[in-house]
Amino acid sequence: MTGAVRTTCPYCGVGCGVVAKAGGAGGWTISGDPEHPANFGRLCSKGSALGETLGLGGRLLHPVVDGGRATWDEALETVANRFRAVIDEHGPDAVAFYVSGQLLTEDYYVANKLMKGFIGSANIDTNSRLCMASSVAGHRRAFGGDVVPGNYEDLELADLVVLVGSNLAWCHPVLYRRLARARAERGTRIVVIDPRRTATCDAADLHLALKPGSDVALFNGLLAYLDRSGALDRDYIARHTGGFAEALAAAAGEPRAVAEACGLDAGEVERFYGWFAGTEATVTVYSQGVNQSSRGTDKVNAIVNCHLATGRIGRPGMGPFSVTGQPNAMGGREVGGLANQLAAHMAFTPEAVERVERFWRAPRIARREGLKAVELFQAVEDGRIKALWVMATNPAVSLPDAGRVTRALASCEFVVVSDCTRDTDTTAHADVLLPAAAWGEKDGTVTNSERRISRQRSFLPPPGEARPDWWIIAQVASRMGWGEAFGYGSSAEIFREHAALSGFENDGGRAFDIAALADADYDALEPVQWPAPGTARLFGDGRFPTADGRAAFVPVRAAPPATLPDAGFPFALNTGRIRDQWHTMTRTGRVPRLASHIAEPFVAVNPADAQAASLEDGGLAVVRSAHGRAILRVRVTGDQPPGRLFAPMHWSRQFSAEGAVNALVAPVTDPISGQPELKHTAVGLAPF
Ligand code: SF4
Repeated sequence: MTGAVRTTCPYCGVGCGVVAKAGGAGGWTISGDPEHPANFGRLCSKGSALGETLGLGGRLLHPVVDGGRATWDEALETVANRFRAVIDEHGPDAVAFYVSGQLLTEDYYVANKLMKGFIGSANIDTNSRLCMASSVAGHRRAFGGDVVPGNYEDLELADLVVLVGSNLAWCHPVLYRRLARARAERGTRIVVIDPRRTATCDAADLHLALKPGSDVALFNGLLAYLDRSGALDRDYIARHTGGFAEALAAAAGEPRAVAEACGLDAGEVERFYGWFAGTEATVTVYSQGVNQSSRGTDKVNAIVNCHLATGRIGRPGMGPFSVTGQPNAMGGREVGGLANQLAAHMAFTPEAVERVERFWRAPRIARREGLKAVELFQAVEDGRIKALWVMATNPAVSLPDAGRVTRALASCEFVVVSDCTRDTDTTAHADVLLPAAAWGEKDGTVTNSERRISRQRSFLPPPGEARPDWWIIAQVASRMGWGEAFGYGSSAEIFREHAALSGFENDGGRAFDIAALADADYDALEPVQWPAPGTARLFGDGRFPTADGRAAFVPVRAAPPATLPDAGFPFALNTGRIRDQWHTMTRTGRVPRLASHIAEPFVAVNPADAQAASLEDGGLAVVRSAHGRAILRVRVTGDQPPGRLFAPMHWSRQFSAEGAVNALVAPVTDPISGQPELKHTAVGLAPF
């Protein structure tokens, strides 16, 4: 293949467009796509290094069965037969898929259709559960559907941008640059709400270093302040919402009491409240600091409540804005890649089940929700799930209590892993390995954080015997007896079916509708926001996809994190990303220049805590929790509040024998969203 190919970056949820051109040191030069509306040509360090990740060693190049090389026929027959045998003997809920926000929408669609429509279980969940499940649940409670109302341009049009639990500068760098440029041009005020000081705080007018888990108290206090200060949009509340009185009653609190609950200065809280109350064009961006919490859904609704109360939603420069971590977390949400969603944003209502059953001509459709990620692996551990297929993800590193996940994989009767990388902490436990095509070789679509669907186009042939994920899944489905329903010849055919399902018997009650794209020229598809053929903002007219057309205030009450420091584990560990690595580093970890920023796993420690623990900057510390331990390089920094630690989540055992921090994290989850509390685990700290 020659010439220039327009595609998208495979890393974060900003979803930047890139152009791959033949030539250059690695055979291809990757640059930002100046015409893509997410980035207009900009790329961050990770996206700029994509060309150096092509042609890497370490690829899985052919199927493997029981440790030995196999043909595709042998491998696919083995998977189909073993899954069929488990289902016949133990029922459909004895099997599960654990998939990934790295999959393309078409891959996701086929996996979801196979599990929910044909196998007859909803035991398909995704690593996106770790990323934004609380936002999904919060959106559904407030709006009646999983909808991000605004877009990236709103950050440029806002006069106030509030960043909650988001290190946007490192985790969504191109979006941060768009915001920084707008700030330089028009003086946008920025407030960062985050327990630790991050690079994002450099541009902030105010940093509220609140106590971990106190977000609900802060935003409940804001709602009460908006009421007292006459800043409510009472007309909007009356005409377009329900439940305000109950939400306000739950939110009652004085700024001084809120400040104490949040560990903040009362004057700073007052200043934030005053800015929010007095600034019509306000966007509140929130990310993993909100979502990865045992009260993540309530945190989302506490934020959304304040935007509904001021009518600041769906209009230029206004709205609550969840930014997703993964490149295709949104696409996964659209097809039903979460165990508690059916397909095309439909829930497991009897009407929706019957509708999807007819559309798919499904012989055995799942009628109730399946197991969410953490409980799914607990079911693997206790033997309820006997056959598991992991696609494009590395749960032995990325899930909380990762040591237990590893033991669950080791004890599972039958494990299939489809991946492009040969050796990961998860592939080590596979009975069957299936070589998947990687970025640059795959063809399909992704959806970014602003509901924008973009094409990911192939510009390289898959190496060895690697195949697209959708092809692999469809082949297994055919061998299980459902060849007619899975006889896809291309990703375009799958997209057309997915688009048609979104519009099937949709009278406008479901916001996700891309039926207008079903007959579009797939190869030439330009980035487009849904509902198709292109909607920049939703809810600006005050109408919501609920039964009565109104948005719902959700009464929420503050509660602490599930595990609190004690004498044995006196510190609170927060985990997160660093600027130049992606997930478990299977791709970025192999680019030397990306390691020049931060080369090894570390724990950030406040100077007073370091001194009390006899730790020196640059020394080694052992961090322990009730679940595991890690050995990490000590970084002493005043950016870290006393009593709280931060450690990046990227390092797997491939890159650091003792640096994997998710082994420490408690497997506690939000009771509504099932999202794990990756931001708060009680740990101890000592010199190594
Ligand atoms: Fe890729 Fe995200 Fe960087 Fe854009 S901001 S280049 S999508 S990693």
